[in-house]
Amino acid sequence: MTSIAESSTKLSSHFEGTAAITLAVLDSLARGWSIIPLQGKKPAKNHLPHGRWKLLQEKPLSFETAYKTFRKDPTLGLGIITGRVSGIVVLDIDPRRFENDENPLAGRYLPITPTERTPSGGEHRYFRLPEGMTLPKREILPGVELIGEGGYVATAPSPGYEWFEGLSPDEIDLAELPEWVVELATAGDASRRAGTTSAVRRYESDADSSKTTRVGQVNNIVTCPHGSQTDMVPEQGECSASSRKRAGATPLQRLEGTELLRWFDQRDVCMAVVEHLGLPTAGLETGRGKAFKCVLPGHTDCTKSGGGPSASLYVHPETGGILYRDWHAENGKEWYSLPEVAACLAYGKVIELNGPELATWALRLLVETGFISPAKVKAVDLPDDAPETVRKVYSGFLLLLACKWLHTPDVPSTFSWRFAAAWCGVDKDTAKRAMTWLLEKGYVRKVGEITASYGRKMGLFLPGTEAHVSSRADKPSRTNATKPTKATTRTKKRNIS
Ligand SMILES: [Zn+2]
Repeated sequence: MTSIAESSTKLSSHFEGTAAITLAVLDSLARGWSIIPLQGKKPAKNHLPHGRWKLLQEKPLSFETAYKTFRKDPTLGLGIITGRVSGIVVLDIDPRRFENDENPLAGRYLPITPTERTPSGGEHRYFRLPEGMTLPKREILPGVELIGEGGYVATAPSPGYEWFEGLSPDEIDLAELPEWVVELATAGDASRRAGTTSAVRRYESDADSSKTTRVGQVNNIVTCPHGSQTDMVPEQGECSASSRKRAGATPLQRLEGTELLRWFDQRDVCMAVVEHLGLPTAGLETGRGKAFKCVLPGHTDCTKSGGGPSASLYVHPETGGILYRDWHAENGKEWYSLPEVAACLAYGKVIELNGPELATWALRLLVETGFISPAKVKAVDLPDDAPETVRKVYSGFLLLLACKWLHTPDVPSTFSWRFAAAWCGVDKDTAKRAMTWLLEKGYVRKVGEITASYGRKMGLFLPGTEAHVSSRADKPSRTNATKPTKATTRTKKRNIS
């Protein structure tokens, strides 16, 4: 158990200590923007391929290289290359250079678009580069420069740069560049305006799909992470439960911690778990999922401020595993492994789990997504008149053993009311009443006790055998010994369901 416990903790430590700048790098790349490491406002030459940033106008840094670069030197600033490679242009507005303190933008149409504050007290406004167009880097009005082809901008969270509240590219999509800007930028230069179609085509074909995700056009990507298993390729692009079953999924007699960890390093496993938990998969093919409202229970901070997105999923550039990021870190924790998210959702609140319990939730996810087969658990079927809630708790208990027995076969398990409630999706009282029913009738038996670390005794349980159930059937119920059998059933039914 120790090794599983250790591994589970490692699950969530993937991104620990990752600086905000590194995250911004990953976010930018996921949007399809070519990024550039900066020292101050200048390209960080010793971190660039051949020391030349212009190469990044043709070929953006890969996710992996960028991640490693910024991890290695957290003092680097972040720049975004404008123009065709990123599909964006930026209006750099510097009030210090306005003529006679007059804002030349007054009265001109400027749609709402991602906007950041710059150290000069001005603004960067980010726009989509109109399709098929190449726009230069040019001052279009006094104090207003269009940064296009051949340029780059320093961006948040580089020192001195900060997105305006509600105006980060996580919160709103880039607007199309207004026509008047295009006119000013191309005035007296018809050839530029015509664009270079062949160059644009080239970018479209070798750029990844994030170029469209960037502007929020691809919201419903249907992906089946298991399509490669030829015997189970689903029809119509649908990802059925059975298709998730891996070829050769076998009961793992001793599932070691490192092995459990490896499962959650696999992209297809994580994708299946993300779907299983009902989290959005859109954008994950770019390394970072489309931002959404934090789903962690009780996170009022995450939802109250105007309803903008407050969470996203990240594919780890080195491992391929997927992690949940709570932007507000409302519980003092920014990164969650998928099993942690599953457990928090089940508990209805964010809780700290110890390693062994987290491992159990991780195993459950692997079993429920069909990646591993559950251990065999022998149990007696419930009678037809067993209350629905009893069925729920009983099947939950058996599922628990089927998961835990993958690493510790045939060992009895604790089943506290609190845990049972979360695990089975019922409330604590219901869990308690159902377990009392199951113990009384012999479907579950208590075989021992352990003392938990906080001093409380906890029962250890196993499924009952046919012999237990039939021996209990002869005895009258403890709590209703004096009442006739029929009434007993009715009373209990009412109590339980
Ligand atoms: Zn949250």
